Amino acid sequence: MTEFHGRRMVIAISAAVIVIVIAATAVYSMRDRLAKSDGGAALVLEAEDGVLYGTQAASAGSGFSGSGYVTDFIADDAELTFQADGVQEGLYRAVIGYRASGGEKYTELFLNEAPAGKVHLVSSSEFAEAAAGKLYLNAGSNTISLKRGWGYYDIDYIKLQKTKAEAAHKVQAELVNPNATDEAKALMAFLADNFGKAVISGQQDFGNIPWIEKATGKRPAIIGFDLIDYSPTRAENGAKSYEIETALTWNRIGGIVSFLWHWNAPTGLINEPGKEWWRGFYTDSVTFDLEAALRDKESEEYKLLLRDIDVIAGQLKILSMNKVPVLFRPLHEAEGGWFWWGAKGPEPAKELYRIVYDRLVNKHELNNLIWVWNSVSPDWYPGDDVVDIVSYDSYPLPGDHSAVSNYYDQLVELTGGTKLIAMMENGSIPDPDAMEQYGAHWSLFITWTGEFLEDGNHNSMEFIQKVYNHPNVITLDDLPAYIEKQKQKAEAEAGTTKK
Ligand code: CA
Repeated sequence: MTEFHGRRMVIAISAAVIVIVIAATAVYSMRDRLAKSDGGAALVLEAEDGVLYGTQAASAGSGFSGSGYVTDFIADDAELTFQADGVQEGLYRAVIGYRASGGEKYTELFLNEAPAGKVHLVSSSEFAEAAAGKLYLNAGSNTISLKRGWGYYDIDYIKLQKTKAEAAHKVQAELVNPNATDEAKALMAFLADNFGKAVISGQQDFGNIPWIEKATGKRPAIIGFDLIDYSPTRAENGAKSYEIETALTWNRIGGIVSFLWHWNAPTGLINEPGKEWWRGFYTDSVTFDLEAALRDKESEEYKLLLRDIDVIAGQLKILSMNKVPVLFRPLHEAEGGWFWWGAKGPEPAKELYRIVYDRLVNKHELNNLIWVWNSVSPDWYPGDDVVDIVSYDSYPLPGDHSAVSNYYDQLVELTGGTKLIAMMENGSIPDPDAMEQYGAHWSLFITWTGEFLEDGNHNSMEFIQKVYNHPNVITLDDLPAYIEKQKQKAEAEAGTTKK
């Protein structure tokens, strides 16, 4: 509270000194070349006219807009504040003019002093534009701040274009696997039916249910499980897992099962202090080279990849035999590069994903899986024929409950709005009210375990209670009615087909 107060003072004083209040009309006539787009003229606010805090205005080099740019996002509290005055209330699409010469960066966006999401600044030695999602501006005066994030980038301007919250697009409910089980189809139909109407609550780790129930009086509809300890190179080191048995229990209770796989590399574990065998899914803890393994299909490394997939297939088979549909998310966060399956860039990751798909679906006939892809970049997308759901793992600043519209919009674009969009992991949960206001229709969220759920900073107790008791949020007790409806629908359809 005091910090916010102090900051407001700084902004007020600096604003008075620098006099950066520029009428919107003057700004866009000046920036005419940037203003051509369909929703009327864009408002362009130059960074060098903003309020600087631990940052510097500069004008060296060329290619920037206006009279310069802002640099030196180095100090932890370095920031730049744009003052958007005289604006109409409503939703605006934000684009940031920037330069990131030293590789890809992230900046932290704040709207009227509340955290409003991360913005990815793709590596660029020239000035370029980055989509910053949507911002709901108040009538009159607003502040938009960029805080350091990864730092070491230059900001040229922010461009705001009036837009509207879009209704959810019509997503494909049909699964890519033509032999998908009735249970898998029913779950997908349930997700598709609720897309744009409700958000389905989820939590990683079955063990967190009592905590949530005590806090909110509700249980999540989805539990995220992990195949991690079935990885052969963990099992041979003594790891044990009961995730499959627990998932069966959860399914019997009526919950939705989601699985990811922190795949401990098939071989090449470094296994020394700091790079222990149990860190074998991290790029930095293995010598396993996916690209090399895929290049030589006769290699031991390639055969071990297949062995691991077959071991996992054996586990998933138990769920299949018990008619448990699974939201299955292999090779998650590949584009981050921190896991070995993403360390060699998009091509090996996509090839491996297709191998996993082919082997589980066609060889092992696992028809209970709903296939979830987990990277937003088109370069990393394995293809419409092997993906049912596209998704993003969201870890904004603690307490940032904004709608994550930036990544939502990128996922809409990724498949032309044809696939369902999910937040398969999150730290702070996006506020269901913000999701509606921003038209960011995340189908579901799955909060990660530990501090992300319990520390009171990522999600305060009050906020978790709000989410779990929100009329648009589906919890476990909401599921039976939906599932029954799907069953009746499936039966009715089957009846129609027979005639
Ligand atoms: Ca500028």
